[in-house]
Amino acid sequence: MRRRGHLRQVTSSETGHATLTAVLSAEDLAQELGLDPHARVTCGRHRCWLHQCVALPEHVVPFTGQRWCRPCRRALDVHVDGTTAVLFCPRCGYGTPDTAANRQVVQACRTSIAAMHAR
Ligand SMILES: [Zn+2]
Ligand SMILES: [Zn+2]
Repeated sequence: MRRRGHLRQVTSSETGHATLTAVLSAEDLAQELGLDPHARVTCGRHRCWLHQCVALPEHVVPFTGQRWCRPCRRALDVHVDGTTAVLFCPRCGYGTPDTAANRQVVQACRTSIAAMHAR
């Protein structure tokens, strides 16, 4: 049987890329229709999965509390591993300030990590 040379296996990175593109455009549209931008699992600004850029300074939002420790008035550091993201304040230690905004950041990162690995 002849091998069909033009048909090749799609690599996992290509699959991931296609998924990212699809989710990005779906969330762009959803945001126009009223989705909370902080609920997104992709980043409309950096065009990547949220957990890939959540550590950048642009993702600290003191006004709404994302990645922010109110008592210390400073940005939280982010540690992302294979399954989740951990926020911690460099001043008060490893206790992630348990606010709705910070929980939302962690939840969105978990979802984006899972989505990136989804087949
Ligand atoms: Zn971003
Ligand atoms: Zn703190």
